[in-house]
Amino acid sequence: MGEFEKKVKRYLDKIRKENKKLNIFLHVNESAVRDAGEIDKKQNKGRLYGFVFGVKSNINVKGLIANCSSKTLENYQATYDAAVIEKIKAEDGVIIGMLNCDEFASGSSGETSAFGACQNPSALGRIPGGSSSGSAAAVAAGFCDATLGSDTGGSIRNPASHCGVIGVKPSYGMVSRYGLIDLSMSLDQIGPLAKNVEDAALVLDVIRGKDTRDTTTTDSKQVKLDRVGKIKVGVLQINGIDKKINSVVDKKLLEVARKNGWNLKNVEINHIDLAVQTYYPLCYSEFFSATRRFDGRRYGKKIEDSCGEEVLRRILGGCEITKAEFAGAYYQKALEVKEIIKGEFEKVFKEVDCVVLPTVPGLPWKIGEGAKMKPEEIYAYDALTIPANLAEICAVSVPAGLVDKIPVGLQVMCAKGEDAKMLSIAKYFE
Ligand code: GLN
Repeated sequence: MGEFEKKVKRYLDKIRKENKKLNIFLHVNESAVRDAGEIDKKQNKGRLYGFVFGVKSNINVKGLIANCSSKTLENYQATYDAAVIEKIKAEDGVIIGMLNCDEFASGSSGETSAFGACQNPSALGRIPGGSSSGSAAAVAAGFCDATLGSDTGGSIRNPASHCGVIGVKPSYGMVSRYGLIDLSMSLDQIGPLAKNVEDAALVLDVIRGKDTRDTTTTDSKQVKLDRVGKIKVGVLQINGIDKKINSVVDKKLLEVARKNGWNLKNVEINHIDLAVQTYYPLCYSEFFSATRRFDGRRYGKKIEDSCGEEVLRRILGGCEITKAEFAGAYYQKALEVKEIIKGEFEKVFKEVDCVVLPTVPGLPWKIGEGAKMKPEEIYAYDALTIPANLAEICAVSVPAGLVDKIPVGLQVMCAKGEDAKMLSIAKYFE
């Protein structure tokens, strides 16, 4: 048996033993061991040889179930590979299975999954965060080397923060969305979650690239880690963050900045308080439109008859605010504020190399508590991650330390297209 084949087998054995309790994988790939064995025999091996991947259930992997953790697509078997999966396979990575997430990526806890929340392996009994709940939990549980998630308003970074792993939201347009089942297409990006920055950088470098099947993609710079020298770091001051989280992130930032002779400068984004309010009209409208294909004719069930409460809220909300009589009122207004926030970030990045802030303003709650929370309360957990999606910039969450034994993430943001520089900076926080 080859090395890769043995490794995949070890992971599969572990998943078979522990997944029942953790509910991280929805399906495993029964041919993963065989796939790895074939790769072991190849003369020239790709850059991802030896990498075992888990994939969020809203990304198409040919032959595997891509149900978006929804009853609507419960048995939907993907008929093609998403662009990112083509690239991973071309570099000899192996896909070991499909991961739990919030239903249609709508949530920040993992609790809206039709197949039950998954556990946070780093804080048992608590939510792993979301919506890429399984993608972060799988890395934290040691079920695979790296995973793919999608991030529309924080869905990669939020669970990465709660589970204590690395999670990257690439600049908008860097990674093809071809084969991603949309939440909100003008904000969605696919990105990697991994145990360390180096692995995340390698995966991002493989999956990036212009793709004619997603016309929002652009050429991008190679993702290569480098020394960054004496940079200027913007410290974003925001209200409403848990004091203990703030102090863990501050401490980490000061320690790393002092050691490397970095300059700190307080910066402000004036309209950042409007980010959550701006995000939801965009998300609701685009999601409503994207879900019109789930009308029961082609994909089995009609979405309104088979989805959960949060998804239905977004469909009904999106239907309402996109009515002709509201033209220009909600979606258009939100687009205007998005442009303002984008402009404010562009100005800040003329003065500093990166911006640092916590990833999530609160600790992950106990599984089940989300059901008692108001939607607005849950939405507020995205206040620090949504701005990067609106501004189309890149952002990464790196573990900063613990609060009450629960992991807390520090977020580094850089200008659009500066993903390599951002990851180079993130490496100093590891
Ligand atoms: N939590 C946010 C939402 O519910 C973000 C989701 C995401 O990034 N996919 O929409």
